[in-house]
Amino acid sequence: MGQEKIIIALDGNSSCGKSTYAKLIAAELGYSYIDTGAMYRAVTLAAMDAGLFTDTDAPPYSRIESLLGPMELNLKHNPDKQRTEIFLNGRMVEDLIRGMDVSAHVSYIAAISAVRRLMVEYQRMLGIEKGVVMDGRDIGTVVFPDAAIKIFLTASVEVRAGRRYRELIEKGMAANFSDVQQNLEKRDRIDSNRADSPLKMADDAILLDNSEMTLEEQMTWFRKLYQEVRSGADEKD
Ligand code: C5P
Repeated sequence: MGQEKIIIALDGNSSCGKSTYAKLIAAELGYSYIDTGAMYRAVTLAAMDAGLFTDTDAPPYSRIESLLGPMELNLKHNPDKQRTEIFLNGRMVEDLIRGMDVSAHVSYIAAISAVRRLMVEYQRMLGIEKGVVMDGRDIGTVVFPDAAIKIFLTASVEVRAGRRYRELIEKGMAANFSDVQQNLEKRDRIDSNRADSPLKMADDAILLDNSEMTLEEQMTWFRKLYQEVRSGADEKD
């Protein structure tokens, strides 16, 4: 494998720190970071803006397809803010998609096969030249089943809810701890039980429970794994 670029798939439960971890790994390797959850969130925002949700538990299967045709999604790096931002039909929606209202609806939208087909196609295109760290729910199982490194991240639900709650508060968004915890549990339940590409650990993924780990400890763990994968591939070359 030498130093050729690889794909790193980072899947796992809601709010277990995937994006923070993925960003750090990408920065260390000089790779791009791709947040696939942002794509499903942006489609959800479009459906909400179009008034397609009359009831949270009633996903608008039929009307969502017509919304997808003309929809334009783009990811662009903002050098001033040092972050990648998502644009929906030309409008920057990076901050809007993070609120509890989008979180409450997103798993219904993400269960729709027509939505997933389109997102997976976009994600595969973004990874075509490799050198990416992609986080999501189905990256190691569906989007890039041949990814050289697959990590499945998890943490206890209390730890995850605490992290997500603090993140929302720090961003100045409205949040209530028990609502946040209930939303995480509900999203995990829907994401794990949907028919199309459910959240599950790929057979060849490595499980990391980061409930009791600092970011520095997680990076030390990753560096060791990365060296092992690299040296294993070199031996095969
Ligand atoms: O990662 P994040 O929590 O922002 O993802 C929001 C939602 O998008 C998830 O709860 C899940 O329903 C959906 N998702 C998905 N597949 C992905 C990424 C996210 O179904 N690859």
